[in-house]
Amino acid sequence: MNGDKATRGSDGRAPGRDFVREIVAADLASGKHGGRVATRFPPEPNGLLHIGHAKAICLDFGVAAENGGTCNLRFDDTNPETEEASYVEAIKRDIRWLGFEWSELRHASDYFEQLYDYGVLLIEKGSAYVDSLSEEEIRAHRGTVTEPGRPSPWRDRPVEESLDLFRRMRGGEFEDGAHVLRARIDMASPNMIMRDPVLFRIRRAHHYRTGSEWCIYPMYDFAHCLSDSIEGITHSLCTLEFVNNRAIYDWLLEEVEAPEPVPRQYEFARLNLEYTIVSKRKLLRLVQDGHVSGWDDPRMPTLSGLRRRGVTPAAIRNFCRLVGVAKADNRVDAAKLEYAIRDDLNMCVPRVMCVQRPLRVVITNFPEGETDWLDAPLYPHDVPLEGTRPVPFTRELYIERHDFMEEPPRRFFRLAPGREVRLRYGYFIRCEEVVKDEAGEVAELRCTYDPATRGGSAPDGRKVRGTIHWVSAEHGPPCEVRLYDRLFRTRDPDRGDYLAQLNPDSLVVHAGARVEPSIADDPPGTRYQFERVGYFISDEEDSRPGRLVYNRTVGLRDSWAKIRKQQMAQEAQKAKGRGKKRKKGRGRN
Ligand code: ATP
Ligand code: MG
Repeated sequence: MNGDKATRGSDGRAPGRDFVREIVAADLASGKHGGRVATRFPPEPNGLLHIGHAKAICLDFGVAAENGGTCNLRFDDTNPETEEASYVEAIKRDIRWLGFEWSELRHASDYFEQLYDYGVLLIEKGSAYVDSLSEEEIRAHRGTVTEPGRPSPWRDRPVEESLDLFRRMRGGEFEDGAHVLRARIDMASPNMIMRDPVLFRIRRAHHYRTGSEWCIYPMYDFAHCLSDSIEGITHSLCTLEFVNNRAIYDWLLEEVEAPEPVPRQYEFARLNLEYTIVSKRKLLRLVQDGHVSGWDDPRMPTLSGLRRRGVTPAAIRNFCRLVGVAKADNRVDAAKLEYAIRDDLNMCVPRVMCVQRPLRVVITNFPEGETDWLDAPLYPHDVPLEGTRPVPFTRELYIERHDFMEEPPRRFFRLAPGREVRLRYGYFIRCEEVVKDEAGEVAELRCTYDPATRGGSAPDGRKVRGTIHWVSAEHGPPCEVRLYDRLFRTRDPDRGDYLAQLNPDSLVVHAGARVEPSIADDPPGTRYQFERVGYFISDEEDSRPGRLVYNRTVGLRDSWAKIRKQQMAQEAQKAKGRGKKRKKGRGRN
């Protein structure tokens, strides 16, 4: 592994030096929050966590851990219609799986009473009022980016009247939408969010925690900053789309005279990843419409999907480190994630053999009914792990269908009529005869083996150019291999209708694959490298002894390393070009 590169962010700086960590370090040095660092990760339980959330989790929990601080898990549960207790449990599981533990478990709904009291306080101060316009009217009064908004006719309603209405809103006297509580700020503010934002609305909906106790619910902007303040958060980290919300965040804390030092909001770039989407709403649609088998479909960018696909938590954490934390939104190269996955798996998973599309091979000079047990290493020499497994060599074997060609083109070094190849860890075999079925398809190869080449080399020094993987037909159990690919055909499925950009080939199943017997009894969830093919995991839902199912985590080809190499070559070329121009320029002067 190219350690240094892998631990640096995309801006080339080592972790610990991104702008958030710099702010935190400066605040610690100046004693701004009394030397404390308290963060929170605030998911809304309306879906499962995805790879984008992993970035936020690594940052929120990471910054706290690095500075001896705390990080709360707070469910931002103020939209009862879309939130569910099952999502809460799944989110907790995913965070722990990723390797983090929260200091305290909180819910915005823990604070409904306090938030209501803050609403009352704002009305009493003249900083909020009950508005009786409809949702549409409020929108129409808001103005546009170029035109100021118009005040609601209820804006100057007497404090007493607003207090009475707010109390009765809570008491359930009004229909949904009849009234809202709004902040009284500035209907002409260039920041549209500051044009008297709605703080509370009436919603008769069952809340998964508070049931029907409440029929008014606070809005995000109101609940978030006050929850942060209640919990004593110091650095409230969120994504860039909240830049304009920072004004209301600060305004509210000041208006309610929140205890000093107040929390501060900082925004970082959202993670977007090529060939996928990171929006719970869109992911939910894929689940609901049956485009995937569920939130944990291995093609999903969710943490549960990545887990089922065989991705390790360490690979995701390393990926987040590679991506870094910056202030500009961009879409991360999909190959970067694949690189992080391979980089981690390479060092920890055993190598075994699996034939995905088997072609029968009969070794005509090997005795029927006999088994030659070969001893094969589980790890290559550059992995500091040891172990071997027994691999049976028998008269009938399977090789990969595409490792044989009847009329091989140039540079095809695998098996062909009259050719010799090495069976990995086994013997040299030569193809003597091709047997075809009625349709003219190759059905079987009749080969001979050279008993002197046991272990893979010939005593006479004769060389073969190809080494192929194989499985004993007699001993190798059948299995299903699921080859997962990118969920979308396009790099940026958020552009246009994402459903129209789904990749129809994102799942290819080889139902009649064969795997070597040494792994047949392994527990579900075991990871391997299938030699020459890729990294796989036995599926935790569907695989069991007697019905083996393997999910491809990632292929072997390291296109990221290749791209990086090309990029570096290009950069070097450019630098050379610049050097030449400069020299030329000097010459002319
Ligand atoms: P979605 O649009 O997927 O629902 P969200 O931002 O509404 O995303 P939340 O549950 O509110 O999801 O997010 C919890 C935290 O995770 C927030 O602080 C949010 O900023 C952060 N987050 C969400 N998506 C990303 C992303 N793609 N990259 C980085 N951080 C993210
Ligand atoms: Mg959200």
